[in-house]
Amino acid sequence: MITNTDVVVFTHDLRVADNPALSAASQANRVVPLFVFDNRIITSQKCSANRLKFLIESVDDLDGSLHKLGGRLIVRRGDWVSEVARVVSACSARRVHVSAGVSAFSARRTRALRAIGLREDFEVVEHPGISVVAPGALLTGGGTSYQMFTPYFRRWLETPWRTPASTPSALRVPNDVVGGPRFTLHDLTQQAASPHVIAGGERQALRQLQRWTEATLESYAEIHDSPASNLTSKISGYLHFGCLSPLDVASRVREQPGAFAFVRQLCWRDFFHQLLAARPDLADRDMRDRGTPSGAPPAVIAAWSEGRTGFPLVDAGMRQLQTEGFMHNRVRMVVASFLTKDLDVAWQVGARHFMKWLVDGDVACNQLNWQWVAGTGTDANPHRIFNPIRQSERFDPEGTYIRRHVAELREVTSKEIHDPGDDTRDTCGYPSKIVDHHEAIHEYRERLRVSRSE
Ligand code: FAD
Repeated sequence: MITNTDVVVFTHDLRVADNPALSAASQANRVVPLFVFDNRIITSQKCSANRLKFLIESVDDLDGSLHKLGGRLIVRRGDWVSEVARVVSACSARRVHVSAGVSAFSARRTRALRAIGLREDFEVVEHPGISVVAPGALLTGGGTSYQMFTPYFRRWLETPWRTPASTPSALRVPNDVVGGPRFTLHDLTQQAASPHVIAGGERQALRQLQRWTEATLESYAEIHDSPASNLTSKISGYLHFGCLSPLDVASRVREQPGAFAFVRQLCWRDFFHQLLAARPDLADRDMRDRGTPSGAPPAVIAAWSEGRTGFPLVDAGMRQLQTEGFMHNRVRMVVASFLTKDLDVAWQVGARHFMKWLVDGDVACNQLNWQWVAGTGTDANPHRIFNPIRQSERFDPEGTYIRRHVAELREVTSKEIHDPGDDTRDTCGYPSKIVDHHEAIHEYRERLRVSRSE
């Protein structure tokens, strides 16, 4: 029998269930499951200790699952392309399987791998699995990617989804390929993770999904906008690292009572993925030009980042971000609007700060949601303003979320907590507001008016 060996390189697909790349690689006689901690990511400014911690746990969990199938995970650290090439040479593999990513960075890595020209019949095979519907699978009548959510969602619901990939029953990993040691957070970064970051890994993810679906899915439409109830699924980090298959999640819940609103949110994720895949430049560049923001001094940006703006809901969100590596979606919209409109700061500044902390920090979902709120993206309305006090009264009426994250305001009454008076602020040691919301929005609108008429 001819022995052939395929390599599967895990990236944003750290799972064994419904993993088309793993499933295809396991068709070979022998398979080398590989994960490379990419030095370019680890040493970059954009690297986040919270994501690294979650990633290490997810990689360890994947190794555990592969052991159950008779295999193991080869873990390396270094230049991603060079490390993959080394493993390919060591086991004389003909094929590398990888899940197709959507960012410019992942496209560059895959191109560089294809170009290494190890042998004539060497192949890099890309597979779906990062989204429910593959980016590029749905195009408008004009043959372009979708730029508006609603028509995309309509098509997405009508489109037959792919059949989930089967989990291999057994894996044969050659003994001659050596894996590096396990890595700890300390090996990879000097930064510490936030104190309350959720644990990574496919098994943890499946438990979380199961628990949440049974307890809360049915009431998702009513509760998802309430930061106080804190009852959304919390699966975004698992989806980002691929500990969960988005197709598997959507298929499991689709027919269950109350699932429509939740599945719609999963479609937002696909929508932003297909948009970034078509327009990788949107990770940094405005989709719609809204002129140049006037910006704010570093001390003001620091007050926003550290949760000291004097607007309780904004501060609660920014503090949740630092302690948990997570923030409720409604509050993400409020703090993003506050930075880009009240403070008239470029969305890229906020997106960078989010990427430093978020466990689910994802170029497609983060950058394009920031653009949506800033009015430079898929939402055509630049005048959508989130009033931080009205939002607080409406979505956290008792101030439960604020009290959870802003210790100074714990004893303040529900009536006063959304906008404490000067005396209360003094007594509690809580800062004054850094801007007057109405004046700031007036200036922002003036700036937009002038830039439109230029
Ligand atoms: P649930 O409400 O339970 O929703 C289920 C899943 O649907 C989420 O896990 C997520 O995968 C998807 N989803 C929900 N809302 C959105 C949305 N607006 N856009 C795209 N997908 C969505 N989400 C990220 O995954 N990574 C990010 O980096 C990110 N940055 C954001 C930045 C801003 C400024 C804003 C406004 C939103 C951002 N989101 C991001 C979207 C959203 O806030 C999170 O997905 C959600 O809060 C995660 O919590 P959950 O898993 O409990 O969500």
